[in-house]
Amino acid sequence: MATQDPWTLPTPEAHDLLELTRELAGKELGPRVEEYEQRGEFPREVIRTLGRAGLLGLPYPSRFGGGHQPYQVYLRVLEVLASRWLAVAEAVSVHTLACYPLASYGTDAQREALLPDLLGGELLGAYCLSEPAGGSDPAAMTTRAVRDGDSYLVTGTKAWITHAGVADFYNIFCRTGGPGARGVSCLLADADTPGIVPQAREKTMGLRSSPVAQIAFDGARVPADRRLGDEGEGFDIAMRALDSGRLGIAACAVGLAQAALDYAVEYTRQRSQFGRPVIEFQGVGFLLADAATQISAARALTLAAASLRDAGQPYSTEAAKAKLFATDVAMRVTTDAVQALGGYGYVTDHPVERWMREAKVLQIVEGTNQIQRLVIARALARG
Ligand SMILES: Cc1cc2nc3c(=O)[nH]c(=O)nc-3n(C[C@H](O)[C@H](O)[C@H](O)COP(=O)(O)OP(=O)(O)OC[C@H]3O[C@@H](n4cnc5c(N)ncnc54)[C@H](O)[C@@H]3O)c2cc1C
Repeated sequence: MATQDPWTLPTPEAHDLLELTRELAGKELGPRVEEYEQRGEFPREVIRTLGRAGLLGLPYPSRFGGGHQPYQVYLRVLEVLASRWLAVAEAVSVHTLACYPLASYGTDAQREALLPDLLGGELLGAYCLSEPAGGSDPAAMTTRAVRDGDSYLVTGTKAWITHAGVADFYNIFCRTGGPGARGVSCLLADADTPGIVPQAREKTMGLRSSPVAQIAFDGARVPADRRLGDEGEGFDIAMRALDSGRLGIAACAVGLAQAALDYAVEYTRQRSQFGRPVIEFQGVGFLLADAATQISAARALTLAAASLRDAGQPYSTEAAKAKLFATDVAMRVTTDAVQALGGYGYVTDHPVERWMREAKVLQIVEGTNQIQRLVIARALARG
């Protein structure tokens, strides 16, 4: 089923980008997804291909090799990727998140040295905020960086790090000062720095081609000129990056939900019971009608939040709403898609069971949906 698309793209260039994405997704993602997910293998070459096609640095300045596109266009691209392979879309989203501190807070010298290779896909980034003792309350982090001459020595453990062991660079949010948010700084470390040790991969429910692991820092020496922003500015950097990242997760959720709806529609039009296609039974048709409506609403909310970002307006609360709503929609729609296929939805012959497992993580990453509610409720309380 063709996606109904009332959202016009701002320029012919954006239109071409989306076409290119659809073509690459069909050629590079579609044929590989099942095999890589089964093997749990990270598709590094696919990410590199997307980078060479200019799809890894879309919202960043062209001066550093980025695409200089509105965030809305980047999100539409992510949506298309997610409809084919969520782990790849999530990798693009996490990489874009990992580029944010350097792109937004790096000095010109720092950006010129690293950003072109990151945006071109030759280097892969990771974002290390969560710790084993807590993800929802990162201001309580204990990973510490102590100044030693021209370097910092980093000690502690980060948890749940997407791209652990395959990234070339780690953004490390760590304590350089006293307790609380004001004591946190952001360092950008080479992955092969001695003392940075990725641990065994987590065995995840879904997104199995996406490596996630703890990373141990054992006195890892990071040059002081790899600090992004001032000492004590790290927490703000992390939160601003997450505002943008949450829109990426929302777009991934919309793409995943759309794929599940399209599949369920196609299946229920072909599948007959009681002498009729099952989509003609109201119980099934209404399920899919609700799904189509929720997806349109999720897309609208996500792009509306992105349009605020593009206009330079505050968008943090709207990003939280989009992430909350779109990921809940993805969970509901993928679950309903399994239901619409009956027993066939429950087996691996069809992708809907995988999509249902994959949707779950979107309600957890980059702030659980409880934390999104907290962000929205705090904004309401502030007035
Ligand atoms: C596959 C995967 C990939 C990830 N990738 C990354 C990554 O690349 N980088 C990174 O830094 N992190 C990453 N994360 C970590 C993720 O951001 C955290 O798991 C998430 O923030 C929740 O933290 P936690 O797991 O410690 O849960 P906890 O913080 O322990 O929360 C447990 C439960 O309590 C709820 N809760 C906590 N506080 C409140 C509150 N104030 N009000 C209401 N409910 C609350 C939570 O919603 C949750 O349901 C990843 C996680 C997964 C599963």
